[in-house]
Amino acid sequence: MKKKLTVIMLAIAVIGAFALSACGGEEATTLKVVTEATFKPFEFVEDGSDEIQGFDVDMMNAIAEDQGLSIEFVNIEFDALIPALDSNQGDIICAGMNKLSGDRAEQADFGDTYFESDLMLLVKADSDITGIDGVTPDMKLASQIGTTGGEYVQDLAKEGKIADGVVLNQWTDCYLQLQNGDVQGVIVDLPVGNAYLAENGDVAKYVGEKFGDHEEFAFAVKKGNTELLDKLNTGLANLKESGKYDELLQKWFS
Ligand code: GLN
Repeated sequence: MKKKLTVIMLAIAVIGAFALSACGGEEATTLKVVTEATFKPFEFVEDGSDEIQGFDVDMMNAIAEDQGLSIEFVNIEFDALIPALDSNQGDIICAGMNKLSGDRAEQADFGDTYFESDLMLLVKADSDITGIDGVTPDMKLASQIGTTGGEYVQDLAKEGKIADGVVLNQWTDCYLQLQNGDVQGVIVDLPVGNAYLAENGDVAKYVGEKFGDHEEFAFAVKKGNTELLDKLNTGLANLKESGKYDELLQKWFS
């Protein structure tokens, strides 16, 4: 009788240990979403806070909820995003990233487009520059490293159309350089430049027309991770169907 009891207790202990390790296993599968959080309203951190918020954050959280995934956002530099997938530091990129740019699609697998964008030129509120065609060889323009805007300013410099294309790690640094007069313009994505102007209309203005190659923002996973990408795409389609996607557009872009 005593022996039987011991066996039963042992069995309970073994089952318990299995259950615990299963829970631990689930914790380990929290997926890391890497981003670069100076791209308001897609992803940003308010002064004095360390919470990453924005459209991309809400959208990914809603997709994760829909698909039963556990995610956490991790803030790194823009040009480190794609390498983070290969080094397994990140499982998903969601960073207002244009999937049509250069050879990005050869380095990562992108999902369905969730937002479309173009580039714009921001100048100081009192500037005489009339648009991207009005820049001159004495000027400096800034944009973020590793982005389409960063490439654009460097191309302008190579062509001799401006004196220097300054590429900086953060969008906030680009705006600061404009405010300080270190550069005469900043090339940025239209929705992001507009969000900046909504709060800083006294220091800067948008001149000319939108330009550059039309952009399609998408999340991305490591090459070959179709299982995860399918889930994310299904989640996105569900958000669009349920009206949640439009609700988030309203929240962040109205
Ligand atoms: N649209 C740009 C790109 O994909 C900028 C993205 C960003 O700065 N987050 O290159």
